[in-house]
Amino acid sequence: MKIVLAAAVLLTAVSSAQQLPPPLPVTAWQGRTMGSDYTVKIVDAKLDPAATEGLKREIEEVLAEVNRQMSNYLTDSELSRFNRAPANQPFKVSGDFARVSRFALELSRTSQGAFDPTLGPLINLWGFGEQSRKQEIPSPAALAEAKAKTGWSHLTLSEEGMLTKDLPGLALDLGAVAKGFGVDRMIATLQARGFKNCYASIAGEVRVTGKNPRGTKWNLGISLPSDNWREDQPMAAQVAISDRALSTSGDYQKFFRDASGRRHCHIIDARTGSPVQHDVAGITVVAPDGMTADGLSTTLFVLGSVEGMKYIEARTDAAALFIIRQNDGTFRQLPSSRFAAMTR
Ligand code: ADP
Ligand code: MG
Repeated sequence: MKIVLAAAVLLTAVSSAQQLPPPLPVTAWQGRTMGSDYTVKIVDAKLDPAATEGLKREIEEVLAEVNRQMSNYLTDSELSRFNRAPANQPFKVSGDFARVSRFALELSRTSQGAFDPTLGPLINLWGFGEQSRKQEIPSPAALAEAKAKTGWSHLTLSEEGMLTKDLPGLALDLGAVAKGFGVDRMIATLQARGFKNCYASIAGEVRVTGKNPRGTKWNLGISLPSDNWREDQPMAAQVAISDRALSTSGDYQKFFRDASGRRHCHIIDARTGSPVQHDVAGITVVAPDGMTADGLSTTLFVLGSVEGMKYIEARTDAAALFIIRQNDGTFRQLPSSRFAAMTR
């Protein structure tokens, strides 16, 4: 009798599981770009291996183009050529380059310089740039010298896409927005091919469209900050989003510690010339597109939780989760009101 009952229970469990439609097939691959991993997932793509290979080549060519425009590492990228060009001479930039630098300058203005795309000399000085990996506290003289070569207000971009610096040696660094823009280009490429349900990411920049393989919004996990970050890191929160981008900036993946054990990370506060020092360990932003999410997460990281929360609550297009490091090593979560609504 007991055995029959157990079998009956088992049958009910199986039949209710069968009521869920099976997940749709996913075409997915990963590759390398901008010093990071990128991922593409397409739901129910119906692509044969040759077509998938063709699409992969197309996406990689788009990413190579973004690199030819905005990379600090390629010596003849558009950005590197602008950085070598003399001051006070208008330099014609491509449409994409103009869009991304216009966005970066707008973010600099609205954040009153917390975001600043001209900090290359300071980023190199602290050992996080393409020119130097010497990670130590610089001398006050070296700091002052590097700081004097920065400042977003020395850049002007005309309606016609002419970019001009009025300070010799001023260099543009789009490192805080280029990955997000790359993700936008990936999604635009997939949409142009008619794919409606997609996921594209470069490192911590993600953008999703339509639905996941289960036919619902995409569930994206936000991991807890950790100095030994791994793929299977415990989650801080989960958001269900569609047709949105998500970006995370933090101080726990690229940093060094000085002799006193103090942490110095790769995001610089333009106002001090030094790595951001406050209690925010990580910040995650949800915004309509990758470039906006990427730029905002870096900006909010510089602003910190008090100023940053005011800034994000004033923007109706975006939401943020601040993850605060507490004295005992645990974390406290501070969601903006729009972010809290997405996790419910
Ligand atoms: P990640 O590179 O880890 O994705 P971010 O998107 O936050 O992180 O961008 C960090 C990069 O942005 C740095 O490596 C540097 O090139 C640049 N950067 C650092 N500080 C600032 C700042 N205050 N404003 C704009 N860009 C910055
Ligand atoms: Mg960023």
